[in-house]
Amino acid sequence: MKNIVVFTGAGISAESGLSTFRDSNGLWKKYKIEDVATFGAFIKNPRLVLNFYNLRRKQLLKVEPNIAHISLNELQYKFNLTIVTQNIDDLHERSGTKNVIHLHGKLTESKSIIDNKIYDIVGGELNVGDYCKKGGQLRPNVVWFGEAVPNMDLAIEVVRKASILIIIGTSLQVYPAATIIDYAINAERIILVDTNPSIYKGIEVFKGKATEIIPDLVRGLLS
Ligand code: NAD
Repeated sequence: MKNIVVFTGAGISAESGLSTFRDSNGLWKKYKIEDVATFGAFIKNPRLVLNFYNLRRKQLLKVEPNIAHISLNELQYKFNLTIVTQNIDDLHERSGTKNVIHLHGKLTESKSIIDNKIYDIVGGELNVGDYCKKGGQLRPNVVWFGEAVPNMDLAIEVVRKASILIIIGTSLQVYPAATIIDYAINAERIILVDTNPSIYKGIEVFKGKATEIIPDLVRGLLS
């Protein structure tokens, strides 16, 4: 079976009801990166940062995977499918995808600031005073700006082996994640699906909504 890698960003979850970061009604219009998405911000005002992610987590519990997440799974009949996602939501997993690499962590997990040990967040909220067994404050297990991306090497390895790379709903503005495309050295096809594509050169571009394009694209790849 050929290897197919799907690289997703906030745009694939937009139609499930989760805001993207850079669209006109995106999250960064309401919050400043430096206030909620850096380790420095967490040290300065942990309540504000934890509350920001508590709200994101509450919102996540109310939404469902959409037809774009769901139809990608059909690719598993014909290809070795790996999804590399920048998203911190769990909508790929909830749609039934087995093989998901999260580059920027998961909203549903916490991490101890003492030893980086990861825990599931029970009850949906993380608060100041929630400690790991060793007494370290727990923070969201998300990769903040300026932090290393632990799964980057793994993602590069799978993208290198991909025969087809499909990129969905990402502005390709967040680094190093955006460099993933440069590693698709064996890909016969590189396809980008986005309502506002950021690149066109050397790739196949489908301009439009993921829910409208992905089901047909998947059918085409299976036929
Ligand atoms: P981004 O906000 O920078 O870009 C979103 C992209 O999706 C844009 O190019 C936009 O044109 C496109 N888009 C919007 N609606 C779409 C639709 N219906 N169908 C197809 N494309 C659509 O997001 P990004 O590139 O993923 O990078 C921002 C960072 O934000 C990521 O690192 C991610 O961790 C984080 N983020 C995650 C979530 C989530 O987990 N759902 C939500 C917001 C931000």
